[in-house]
Amino acid sequence: ESVVNRIAAGEVIQRPVSAVKELVENSLDADSSSISVVVKDGGLKLIQVSDDGHGIRLEDLPILCERHTTSKLTKYEDLFSLSSMGFRGEALASMTYVAHVTVTTITKGQIHGYRVSYKDGVMEHEPKACAAVKGTQIMVENLFYNMIARRKTLQNSADDYGKIVDLLSRMAIHHNEVSFSCRKHGAVKADVHSVVSYSRLDSIRSIYGVSVAKNLMKVEVSSADSSGCTFDMEGFISSSNYVAKKTILVLFINDRLVECSALKRAIEIVYAATLPKASKPFVYMSISLPREHVDINIHPTKKEVSILNQEIMIEMIQSEVELKLRNAND
Ligand code: ADP
Ligand code: MG
Repeated sequence: ESVVNRIAAGEVIQRPVSAVKELVENSLDADSSSISVVVKDGGLKLIQVSDDGHGIRLEDLPILCERHTTSKLTKYEDLFSLSSMGFRGEALASMTYVAHVTVTTITKGQIHGYRVSYKDGVMEHEPKACAAVKGTQIMVENLFYNMIARRKTLQNSADDYGKIVDLLSRMAIHHNEVSFSCRKHGAVKADVHSVVSYSRLDSIRSIYGVSVAKNLMKVEVSSADSSGCTFDMEGFISSSNYVAKKTILVLFINDRLVECSALKRAIEIVYAATLPKASKPFVYMSISLPREHVDINIHPTKKEVSILNQEIMIEMIQSEVELKLRNAND
C-alpha cells in the first residue's frame, strides 16, 4: 500500500515547484498577508514556507495530512470556488509520502505554538509545544528521498529554483495585497521581494520592473450570458514599445493561477498580426467565470484548464486585445 501511495503522491507533487504552489495556496487560504519561501538545492533539500495566517488548531493537527479529509471542499464543483484554492486535501498528505514534513503553527490568542512531523499521512509523534510568532511554517525536507529516479532526474535539471521564482512572481502580481519573498537558503538577498501595493500595476512594476510596467495598457472584457459565455476579464497587455523574446502570460482564473495554451497562442497570433515587428507580448489577465463553467474533470496535477465555450471567450479576448493594440498604434 505504501508504494501505491507514494506513486499517487508523486503524481500530485511532480516537482519542487508543485509543492511550493500547494503550500503557498494554503497560506493564501489562511488569509496571510505575508508569505516567505526559502529553498535549498532547488527544493530537493528544503522548501520552507512561512506565513502569518490564521494558523492550525491543535485538534486539527492529527488529521492535517490525511488524504481527502482535511479539504474544506465538499464537492468537485467547488474546485475553483473563490474562497478556496485547495483541492480535496491531497497536497499535504502527498508531501508526507515523498518527503519529511514538519509543521509549526500557532493560532490567534495562544501563548505558544505546536510543532509536529508527519510520515506517510500520519503524525510521527504528539504535537510538541514550542515558541512561535504568528501563523504557520511548513518545512518539506528531502523531497523524493524515496523516489531515486525522480530525484536523479531533478538533480540534473538546475532550473527548479527558477521555476519557483517564476511561480512566486506570478502569484505576487495577482495577490498585490500580500507580500511575498523567496530566497535561497543562506542567501541574504531575496530573488522575489514584493511589498503590499495598492494597485496591480504597482505590483507588476515591483516584480517585473519599470521597463515592463511603463509599456503596459489596461484591457477589460465583460461578457453577458447572451453569447453563451459569461466572464469578466481584466488585465494588462504590453504595447509596441515592449521588447522581449518570450511570451509571458500570467493567467488567473477565479483567483487560481492556471495555464491555457490555447489563449496564449491566440494572443501571440494577435500580436504577430497587429504589430508584426514587435516583440513577444507580456500579458497579465484575471478572468472570473461561474465556477460551473470550468471543467470539473480537471485533475489536480493538470495546470491546463478547460472552460465551457472556451473558443468564444478566447475570440472575445482576442478582438479586445487587437482593438487596444490598433488604437495605441494610431
Ligand atoms: P486542502 O487545501 O485541499 O484542504 P491541503 O492538503 O493543501 O488540502 O491542506 C490541508 C489542510 O491543512 C487545509 O485545508 C488547511 O485547513 C490546513 N492548512 C494547510 N496549510 C495551512 C496554513 N499555511 N495555514 C493554515 N492552515 C493550513
Ligand atoms: Mg491546499
